[in-house]
Amino acid sequence: MKIRIYNARVLAMDGDFKVTEGELHTENERIIYVGEGLADISEGGFDREIDAKGNLILPGFKNAHTHSGMTFLRSYADDLPLMDWLNNQVFPMEAKLTGAAVYWFSKLAFMEYLTSGITADFDMYFYQEDMARASVETGFRTVMTSGMSNFMSSVSEQREDYIKFNDYHPLISYKLGFHAEYTNSVGNLEGIAKLADEFKAPVFTHNSETAGEVRGCIERYGKTPTALMESLGLFEYGGGGYHCVHMSDEDIDIFKRRGLTMVTNPGSNMKLASGTPGISEFLKAGVRVALGTDGPASNNCLDMFREMFLVTGLAKLRERKASAVPAEEVLKMACVNGAICMGLKDCDCLRAGKLADLIMLDLNKPNMQPINNIVRNIVYSGSKQNVIMTMINGKILYENGRFDIGEEPERIYKEVNARVAMMKG
Ligand SMILES: [Zn+2]
Repeated sequence: MKIRIYNARVLAMDGDFKVTEGELHTENERIIYVGEGLADISEGGFDREIDAKGNLILPGFKNAHTHSGMTFLRSYADDLPLMDWLNNQVFPMEAKLTGAAVYWFSKLAFMEYLTSGITADFDMYFYQEDMARASVETGFRTVMTSGMSNFMSSVSEQREDYIKFNDYHPLISYKLGFHAEYTNSVGNLEGIAKLADEFKAPVFTHNSETAGEVRGCIERYGKTPTALMESLGLFEYGGGGYHCVHMSDEDIDIFKRRGLTMVTNPGSNMKLASGTPGISEFLKAGVRVALGTDGPASNNCLDMFREMFLVTGLAKLRERKASAVPAEEVLKMACVNGAICMGLKDCDCLRAGKLADLIMLDLNKPNMQPINNIVRNIVYSGSKQNVIMTMINGKILYENGRFDIGEEPERIYKEVNARVAMMKG
């Protein structure tokens, strides 16, 4: 399959924020050409030629932390503090989950990702075989990590999953991880550190999401979660933390030294009143920051435009400084840093040889005009309504409001609602 997109504005995100006018070609899963002006197409052989009409193509957004299968809990229990929400609402419903349910709930999440220009997700949930199957069938790119806790999964199961899912399908990969410090014994964490050592692999987990979580860890071990994990050898090969709202200077220093990614989830942290992380402090320290929606139970929507606006808006408010976390920095988090964090080294920018994970934004809409500055238009004024095409691995999965995901949207809505009704029983 060869596709030509011409008459396009191209924001390649290849080391700068330059927008050029030109075209981009793909062949199967790869980008084979990006250039200015009209390309020499005498070789031809395109299966499809798309006139972009001056619209913008850029690398897709990477949702660097989510729980896709949790779509079933969207707007089921809201306006509650995190621990109450988790223990009394989320866990009892999750106890009724089945693999088949997670399969359909994940498909619903993939649809929503596609409408928001998201081309890959970093997913922590249960029934990962069903999740992976749903992802492959949809054509969606998923990096999975484990939600291991004292109640779910085990180190030996994770070892098997690590091997299995890193050799499952080109769209699927797997990173070591666990739910959080407060849901795992030290024995569990030591087991993961051993796996990190065995596979020379990075480790990811929820980290310092609430002030109470940090307090509890200090009471248990005399250390912050980050310091505890560092002392157990979990970060020998890098990795990262989701949320990182309540971090000390020493914690940030460990992130810097170990090359860890701070994955921020502004919508979820705001809605659960967990707090606002000091994004500028991480950036100043040279820590990579990526962006995620977190699960649809806590957010409640899986929309990177909203997260992009919130990450900078909340930072400006926290610091009382309008210059905090500028638009360019935000777009880099969404497109590039997420890819690096998730180990998707060929999905970070638009360049010949890279994987064709890209999106097209409609600039011929009132909220994108005039074109004073495209990057600021995307971050401060953009919306998922501007997404007119989402391509993953060279395949267009979403275009002008229509899905090409091997399943009718109505079927997915029906399956999801029937299962939710059953679980509420
Ligand atoms: Zn989470």
